[in-house]
Amino acid sequence: MATDGVGQQPVDALCPGCGGAEVHSVEEARSDKRASGKNLHSRLEKGPDKNGDGCLHFVEGMVLVGLGVGLAYTGVEREEPLYTLGGVVLAVLMLIGTIAVVRSDGQEKAAAEAGEARADRLWRTALYCYGCESVFCLGGSPWRGALTPEQFKKLVWTESGYGDQLVAGDKAKDAEVPPGIVPPGR
Ligand SMILES: [Zn+2]
Repeated sequence: MATDGVGQQPVDALCPGCGGAEVHSVEEARSDKRASGKNLHSRLEKGPDKNGDGCLHFVEGMVLVGLGVGLAYTGVEREEPLYTLGGVVLAVLMLIGTIAVVRSDGQEKAAAEAGEARADRLWRTALYCYGCESVFCLGGSPWRGALTPEQFKKLVWTESGYGDQLVAGDKAKDAEVPPGIVPPGR
């Protein structure tokens, strides 16, 4: 490794795509202010951010259940059976929905945690070229070739077992990763 004296530490490597030397680890590139307009923080993301997600959904669900209970209570007070019925139905549906959502949050979180070590292996050593915006690994290990950030994200997420968690609208979801760039084994 050599230092360019600007504070960042460029890796001693040339980009296989354009031959450029302005190459940094994806980890650095994600937080580099120079690239803030390129949204690299999200485009080079290693995995889904699941912190507190399930908890928030639970609270949201309970608020809706509370609305149903409140409606039912109002129905009892005013002797409006329709309100009572509607309120009870709403509360029950929201309770079922909340359980389903929180449970699927839990499964997604478990999948993300299970794949974390593998994701880390593919992601940590990857390098990003500022010249042509391609991502590659030195010496073709642990994976070969030069990818776009979208292909790279898709590769990491898919290989780690949570490719199904790429959300609609994320270009990585539709990216095509060339087959065979991760050698079998390990
Ligand atoms: Zn390049």
